Amino acid sequence: MEQESQLTRLGLFDARVPRYTSYPTAPHFKPTIGAGDFTRWVEAIPPGAAISLYMHVPFCRRLCWFCACRTQGTQSDAPVRAYADVLIQELALLKAHLAPGVTLSRLHWGGGTPTLMPPDMMRRVAGAVFDAFPLAPGAEFSVEIDPNEIDEARMDALAEAGLTRASIGIQDFDPAIQATIGRDQSFEVTAEAVRMIRARGIESLNADILYGLPHQTPQRIADSIQKLMALSPDRIALYGYAHVPWMAKRQVMIPDAALPDPQARLALFEVARRLLVADGYDEIGIDHFARPGDGLAVAQRAGMLRRNFQGYTDDQATALVGMGASSISRFPQGYAQNAPATGAHVKAIREGRFSTTRGHAFTPEDIWRARMIEALMCDFEIRADEFIRDHGFTAPRLAALFAPIKAQFGEMVTVNAAGLSIPFEGRPLTRMIARMLDGYEMEAKGHSPAI
Ligand code: SF4
Repeated sequence: MEQESQLTRLGLFDARVPRYTSYPTAPHFKPTIGAGDFTRWVEAIPPGAAISLYMHVPFCRRLCWFCACRTQGTQSDAPVRAYADVLIQELALLKAHLAPGVTLSRLHWGGGTPTLMPPDMMRRVAGAVFDAFPLAPGAEFSVEIDPNEIDEARMDALAEAGLTRASIGIQDFDPAIQATIGRDQSFEVTAEAVRMIRARGIESLNADILYGLPHQTPQRIADSIQKLMALSPDRIALYGYAHVPWMAKRQVMIPDAALPDPQARLALFEVARRLLVADGYDEIGIDHFARPGDGLAVAQRAGMLRRNFQGYTDDQATALVGMGASSISRFPQGYAQNAPATGAHVKAIREGRFSTTRGHAFTPEDIWRARMIEALMCDFEIRADEFIRDHGFTAPRLAALFAPIKAQFGEMVTVNAAGLSIPFEGRPLTRMIARMLDGYEMEAKGHSPAI
């Protein structure tokens, strides 16, 4: 109770702040960045480098009301096939601009629903990727698998292509909650998808689950977490549902009155967190959990955890290239986002040009602020020695930067010669503390609740 009243006093339950999967955050991207910048940044990747590749498939069979992903509904395979052909053209275009010998440290197919691709199309796209860019040693190939849209033939195609990590979205297993968020996915269907995945020797399994859903109660989330643990994923993302119907139009279908209030959201997170920790999961950053042997847990112990658009990662590649409509790439020089509309992206690629429509070129100040925010989100600490060594800071300059944070958050942050750290009880405030290191103006309405 004492912790809750402190969190209330510090404004946790009223705040809306970014999730900081990038810095600056996407609302600050500008149309001044275009295909010319993207091309230059791709061409600056050194020969033989290992890069991360994300491929976006913006199609789903039906559109779930809670989901803010960039995707569109289709009942036929024709648009998916046409789009997959465009992805193959985009690969060739990318290859033409990349230095020789580039390999992949990560390949991820996300969406939307990448498993809408028919098996022959999956084989063609995977074959085109690996012809252009072989996997580096120890690389991962991961795919978001929709349990409603997978079958033995598709799983065979993915396994033959070399899938190493399967990712499934769950939200909550409770049928009443699923009915309210427009998503029908029984435990049995999910368990069958997991059986198909495991039967092919794919050992690594990610699962996403949400807290803060309509009608969710501590008992309901506990039931869902227990069912989830029976499937034994080695990595779990426990995201807060962000109700932003003014941005994600489908969410108007979800009644505001059924949503838990911010205090209840914190309680739901806590119920789930405790169950996962009791089951042996390590806590990773603000909202992930991993078995101690999983790459994320290993990276966290080694101080190598990173944050990117997919949440947390152990990938150390300095370039993440996003392919497909709306995908965002990150280079050492800045961010570049492809045309959000599928039609515009497809047109550009068919005309032999990249579709980049906006982005951001890093300033020197962006670089150190981004790293500070990432360090907080990953490790709950900003180490003074790192910023003195790598970013030219002096101890007095760091002290001056941290002083307003200490003044604002009191005992919920520790500031000393070693740097700034957040004690365990202050962790729910991490995004708010990170916000104080954000150098850009922010319109709170566009962001999700701090808890
Ligand atoms: S939850 Fe999955 S299937 Fe539903 S709209 Fe979002 S991406 Fe599509």
